[in-house]
Amino acid sequence: MNQSIAAIALTPNATKTLQPLCHTIGAQLWVPESFANIAAAKIYKGDLKTHVATLWETQQALVFCLATGAVVRLIAPLLQHKSTDPAVIVVDEAGKFVISLCSGHQGGADKLTTLIAQLIGATPVLTGVSSSLGLPAIDMLGVPFGWRRGGGDWTGVSAVVARGESVQVIQEAGSTLWQKAYSFNDSPSPQAQIYITARTVEPVLNPYIQWHPRVLWVGIGCERGTPTETIAKAITKVFLEYELAESAIAGIATIDIKADEVGLLELCQERDLPLITFSKEVLSAVTVPNPSQVVKSEVGTPSVAEAAALSASGSQTLLVTKQIFKSMGAVTIAIALSAQEYTGRTGKLLLVGTGPGQLDQITPAAQIAIASADVVIGYSLYIDLIAPLLQKEQIIEAMPITQERQRAERAIELANWGLTVAVVSSGDSGIYGMAGIVMEQLQAANWDGKTPSVQLFPGISALQAAASRVGTPLMHDFCAISLSDLLTPWETIEKRLTAAAQADFITALYNPKSQTRTQQLASATAIFLQYRDPSTPVAIVRSAYRPDEQITLTTLDKLLDTSVDMLTTVLIGNQTTRTHNNWMITPRGYLGFGDAKALNIS
Ligand code: SAH
Repeated sequence: MNQSIAAIALTPNATKTLQPLCHTIGAQLWVPESFANIAAAKIYKGDLKTHVATLWETQQALVFCLATGAVVRLIAPLLQHKSTDPAVIVVDEAGKFVISLCSGHQGGADKLTTLIAQLIGATPVLTGVSSSLGLPAIDMLGVPFGWRRGGGDWTGVSAVVARGESVQVIQEAGSTLWQKAYSFNDSPSPQAQIYITARTVEPVLNPYIQWHPRVLWVGIGCERGTPTETIAKAITKVFLEYELAESAIAGIATIDIKADEVGLLELCQERDLPLITFSKEVLSAVTVPNPSQVVKSEVGTPSVAEAAALSASGSQTLLVTKQIFKSMGAVTIAIALSAQEYTGRTGKLLLVGTGPGQLDQITPAAQIAIASADVVIGYSLYIDLIAPLLQKEQIIEAMPITQERQRAERAIELANWGLTVAVVSSGDSGIYGMAGIVMEQLQAANWDGKTPSVQLFPGISALQAAASRVGTPLMHDFCAISLSDLLTPWETIEKRLTAAAQADFITALYNPKSQTRTQQLASATAIFLQYRDPSTPVAIVRSAYRPDEQITLTTLDKLLDTSVDMLTTVLIGNQTTRTHNNWMITPRGYLGFGDAKALNIS
């Protein structure tokens, strides 16, 4: 996770509990001066209280291995609001419990607590109402899409949700993807309302809350030197008049010669809004309701505010046509509605290998990647296998096998929009997995290598998983060959099989057979029999590390007697591979036999 996490330990035992964790979650471990030479730990000088106060300002999460009472006293003077305070987590010295102490939802403490508990095999202690009922938190609903929280009684609506009473959701703007993660009791006579809107709504029912998707692009034209305050006042006036929510502003759009206009820059900085600019050529080409000859003669386009709002939003029509304000400097404002909200976030693609199947065969880094994603995309079978790792607020998109292209396209589309998307593959994602198609499609789309960002998380591939069940068959030079000729011509596969057989590579055959491809394994076996002894050991491993695992040790001449399917990996030994009491062993050469001496490779 890309966040700053500080972990604090005051005793040697606490250090031992936190150390492995720090490495995996990327936290900085802090210890007192009395501790000498703790690997990767930083030493704080002076008293802990002062140090925690410093960390409070800079860190997104604090993990204490300390008595809860002591932590409560330490943080009490620092607490401000759950939307700004860092997440605070407490781990007991024995590493049995992980407590989400405060900033559970908004600070991410609940999520981090769950992760840490998973990593150290502890029990997560989550005491928020939505956690205890397994309910998704309403104050997280719009976060993946960059929505801003509007007015209303958030605690009141949470309580209605927690009581399981009916809630009415009225959505006028923004993505409906949240529906994949949240479901509310929507029976008649609701007790609370959730508005998802760009407007400022008068509630019909109390309690209510408002989420504001950022769909409004504000086009602005102004005289040089117009003060920030004048622009802000003008915006507020229009928004009030049209009953629109300023929290729903996606960004400010204007002409490129205004890119250095101080008032606009300050406004955008204060409100964390993007300032998008267009050239006069682009703006002139937009059809607008209120073109002006005066403006044209001044800046070379008949419209700035209206044309810029339309260009930024991608819409054809304006929600609010040009409004003119004159006080200290002149400001024109127009507003357009975009079909998709601006998330204000840089998307991430996490290409994750989930190993052969069992959860404990997934690397901790991959587990964290999955848990940190807004969206998890993958083949339904693999999504089922990792179900315990999924978080309740996550959007899960399980797709049938064979839809690799669609899965990759969808992942890229969501990441381009600003979401963090984990694409899961079994084994290693970069070995006949989804990472390949995602990277190819990014390249085809002229990706700049940075946006969206891409991170790969290696997994245990089928050949390693299969090998580990039968011994050390891969102890010498080996290769992997997929027998699937859906994407590779069979002649190429045959050529590689021949070369591998000839060069005495131990060979792992992936995709050995499917319902429609039945002949390939027979052909592969025939090729190997030309170069290798019929008694060469072969392991046939089906569904390694899954409940229906099947392992057969056999020989090359009997390979075809064992039933093989698309969940199977076949390992063919080299000329020195042997079996010993049901174990398959390829000598590395330490004991003086095997290797080149025994071979006759030309
Ligand atoms: N990315 C995966 C490979 C996907 S190709 C990896 O690195 O393992 C699919 C093929 O992988 C299957 O046809 C089968 O040959 C092999 N495979 C995947 N999981 C397996 C498992 N649990 N046991 C045996 N073979 C497996």
